[in-house]
Amino acid sequence: MAKIEKQARSALEQGEPVWEYADAPESTEIVHLRDRYGLFIGGEFVEPKSGTWFETIDPSNEQPLAQVAEAGPEDVDLAVHAARDAYETHWRDLPGSERAKYLYRIARQIQERAREFAVLETMNGGKPIKESRDVDLPLAAAHFFYYAGWADKLEYAFPNRRPRPIGVAGQIIPWNFPLLMAAWKLAPALAAGNTVVLKPAETTPLTALLLGELIREAELPPGVVNIVTGAGEPGAALVNHDGVDKIAFTGSTEVGKIIRRATAGTGKRLTLELGGKAANIVFEDAPLDQAVEGVVNGIFFNQGHVCCAGSRLLVEEPVFEPLLEKLKERLQTLRLGNPLDKNTDIGAINSRAQLQRIEEFVVAGVQEGAEMYQADCDLPERGFWFRPTLFTNVSQSHRIAREEIFGPVLSILTFRTPAEAVEKANNTPYGLSAGIWTEKGSRILWMAERLEAGVVWANTFNRFDPASPFGGYKESGFGREGGRHGLEPYLELDGGNGASTR
Ligand code: ADP
Repeated sequence: MAKIEKQARSALEQGEPVWEYADAPESTEIVHLRDRYGLFIGGEFVEPKSGTWFETIDPSNEQPLAQVAEAGPEDVDLAVHAARDAYETHWRDLPGSERAKYLYRIARQIQERAREFAVLETMNGGKPIKESRDVDLPLAAAHFFYYAGWADKLEYAFPNRRPRPIGVAGQIIPWNFPLLMAAWKLAPALAAGNTVVLKPAETTPLTALLLGELIREAELPPGVVNIVTGAGEPGAALVNHDGVDKIAFTGSTEVGKIIRRATAGTGKRLTLELGGKAANIVFEDAPLDQAVEGVVNGIFFNQGHVCCAGSRLLVEEPVFEPLLEKLKERLQTLRLGNPLDKNTDIGAINSRAQLQRIEEFVVAGVQEGAEMYQADCDLPERGFWFRPTLFTNVSQSHRIAREEIFGPVLSILTFRTPAEAVEKANNTPYGLSAGIWTEKGSRILWMAERLEAGVVWANTFNRFDPASPFGGYKESGFGREGGRHGLEPYLELDGGNGASTR
């Protein structure tokens, strides 16, 4: 506010009219928080056998929101048994058309309660309300609708391959898109006839638990979906449980490697969606204003807490200067602050630990010789915040060009030929996504063929659709989520995919 007043005063002194956005906070009245949230096991919310609870907060102001159960090994065991019972006594043998009815019901109920979910997502995770409202919620519902449509058509999706469910799926998800990741995981698993134990991330359990309530209201048979909250330990207990047939994990490459080691040789099926360090590549002939919007969306959407974020900008040298100038100008217009305000572009960093990680990377960037530029905005006094940040003079050996920062920090490099762009883009252990900005269709195809990335966006970025498969190469993991491909990890298929990790 102080900055706005300062601007207003100086503009007034110069005799210019000043137009500013009025505050437009979304009301939190629609959300009814409970003091405590138990574990969702066998269709009921139950006290944890572990007897332990942890506090979950709003990262934008550090205010506590609720106490949440910390699942111990015994709780995870109960959840896996509930899922096994539901699988054997009910879900496995239910006709696909009946499973579809439940999924459609969940999809519709998510739509009906979208505002409540969006506000809660923003309160617990710090992302701007306009993103949870316009991206996370519509996509979460769309995933349930989409996979509901496949539930009775599996024979058509995989002709002559006798699709059968696998059994109990353990699904571990991160904190950057808490509800959406739950939807990505649950919808295909349930459509294929599996039952599930879901483990949300420790900093963002609340929308998954609200989804548990909704699932209960949808009268899904008890035990088909179970939700165990807590940090890494219940995740590891789930991975190591003998009663689990498949693990689906989205999170850091570090934990993904641990899980791959733990499941090797066990016969458990595994899919991993891990980190990324995507190149967003802008050619000389790209429409620059459009590219600037794509670059901003690529790295500042969800504060850069996006595994497929365009965190390395590769610019063809002739347009480096004008693009940089436009980017800097655009950065100054991004509105950072209260995530519940409908005008906010940049919300809070998800946790203190993540903020410290981002700060460490930025210090390393400066120490290694890169040049930093930050948006000149005021940061709220409480909560976890980081200014939108650009780095130029970045070399490929810098940590900020090699490692995933998972924050609003963009490293800018340049190139002179398409071949150099490909080489630089692929010079990373990751391979999740990439972006190309050019007017030439032939160049898009030439580049896309050579980029080692699961998703390549052309003249756009961060576009998602339930019908479109998503997943990585190299250290970004394996397996696909979304589309018909997203069903495959949840099915036994004749003549196909084997029974263990690939
Ligand atoms: P991030 O760096 O995005 O927090 P993590 O990989 O640490 O990613 O977390 C992603 C998810 O994995 C979270 O739900 C977290 O609790 C869980 N997790 C963390 N450690 C383990 C582990 N050793 N085994 C299984 N799950 C884990």
